[in-house]
Amino acid sequence: MSGTVPNSPAGAPPRGPRETIFEIGSPESTCVTAPDLDVPDVDLAQVMGGAVRTAPPRLPHVTELEIMRHYAHLAEMNFGVDSGFYPLGSCTMKYNPRVNEDTCRLEGFTGLHPYQPAQTVQGALELMYGLAQALGEISGLPGVTLQPAAGAHGELTALMIFRAAHESAGDPRRKVVIPDTAHGTNPATVTMCGYETVTIPSDGNGLVDMDALRSVLDTDVAAFMLTNPNTLGLFDPNILRITDAVHEVGALAYCDGANLNAIMGISRPGDMGFDAMHINLHKTFSTPHGGGGPGAGPVCVTEALSRYLPGPVAVSFDDGTFGLDWPDASIGRVRSFHGNFGVLVRAYTYLRAIGASGVREAAEQAVLSANYLKARLNGVFDVPYDRGCMHEFVLSGARLKRETGVRTLDVAKRLLDHGFHPPTVYFPLLVEEALMIEPTETEPLSALDSFADALIAIVDEARSNPDLVRGAPYTTPVRRLDEARAARTPDLRWRPSSA
Ligand SMILES: *Cc1c(COP(=O)(O)O)cnc(C)c1O
Repeated sequence: MSGTVPNSPAGAPPRGPRETIFEIGSPESTCVTAPDLDVPDVDLAQVMGGAVRTAPPRLPHVTELEIMRHYAHLAEMNFGVDSGFYPLGSCTMKYNPRVNEDTCRLEGFTGLHPYQPAQTVQGALELMYGLAQALGEISGLPGVTLQPAAGAHGELTALMIFRAAHESAGDPRRKVVIPDTAHGTNPATVTMCGYETVTIPSDGNGLVDMDALRSVLDTDVAAFMLTNPNTLGLFDPNILRITDAVHEVGALAYCDGANLNAIMGISRPGDMGFDAMHINLHKTFSTPHGGGGPGAGPVCVTEALSRYLPGPVAVSFDDGTFGLDWPDASIGRVRSFHGNFGVLVRAYTYLRAIGASGVREAAEQAVLSANYLKARLNGVFDVPYDRGCMHEFVLSGARLKRETGVRTLDVAKRLLDHGFHPPTVYFPLLVEEALMIEPTETEPLSALDSFADALIAIVDEARSNPDLVRGAPYTTPVRRLDEARAARTPDLRWRPSSA
């Protein structure tokens, strides 16, 4: 093992955490100067009695410069799409145009109250109506609710709609079928909705195994949930046969729409025979995400299922005005008011800015980027399901692990030293030592090439000096964490030493 600790390629020293804002500054520091008192002084203790605090609050005392440095440092420690390539598979970490931020901060939107009478909020209603129309057009499923706050919430909403439809037909069912490539939220949704999950294995090509599907389909199956293209980045060419088979037993077909970025403007889940889908606006339609929200997971359904949608929904009237209406068999509200409205404004802005042809171009470019990167990395890693991919692809680090002892986790950590956010790892579960890479359409060719070069360099390092890779990262604020402990017993609170 070499004696030197490798720095980042730029040679920058690690930028570690430093003091919290409570530890910097001094009691006399301040960044506000209050005007002189020009009204009679009041003795608060006399007015408010025992409610007046006896000691001043422990607020930071800092100058404006110290505040600026504090937040600039925090921003530098963070990694985001704005700082570098972020190929986190299934998450669609595309660039979020700044115009979205301008429009969602317009006072005409931020100053509204959701209880205002409809005639005073026509612009907001028009936006909701227009966005729902656009999503209905893109999905091929005309009934739309904008309420769900995330993809997982959209899945739950759709299954509740399915349940309502089955129950109103006097045919409650108990099971929901999902393939083994499904995102973890799918079985979680099934359980939350009171159904039982039936998992089917994929076929040798990573697609839905038709025989396995047929063998579990019966009149107790409420739905089949499928991500198409799936989490291997593969479009299922049997999709029409799949949805036909599902409908034959009276079940409904659900599309997990997280991968819409690959097909929007080209093919429509409604035309594939799906009855409902969710759309992650924060993925496909460019809202910053990754820090836990806010997001939005609108659900699009067939005409037949529209009557079960959560209410209210925005509607347009013949006289050109807009209002709110409740579908006649609505499952009720799934979220307060109208969902995460700021995210809806961002998505609508994005759609209006790029237009119908831009939607299609984005998908085409995303697929091209993924196929280019896959071609550059094929052979460096194994490609277990080597067909033309859609917007993402999955590599396997199994051979590297066998030959060098370096695991995919080590490769991911070493990528941090090379200045890249790692891809999704160890998912989907059916690929051993998986690396799931989604470059998105917004990355320039030079970024794709630098990323491929970095992975090639890391594989070389793994062969010549495996301990180097196993010890990574070296350049981050913290090194390897005990991830199980960090997730189960996080300690996120700072306490003053003298308290
Ligand atoms: C992101 C994702 C989800 C869940 O969406 P959230 O908005 O994070 O709740 C579901 N399925 C797939 C395939 C995803 O990538």
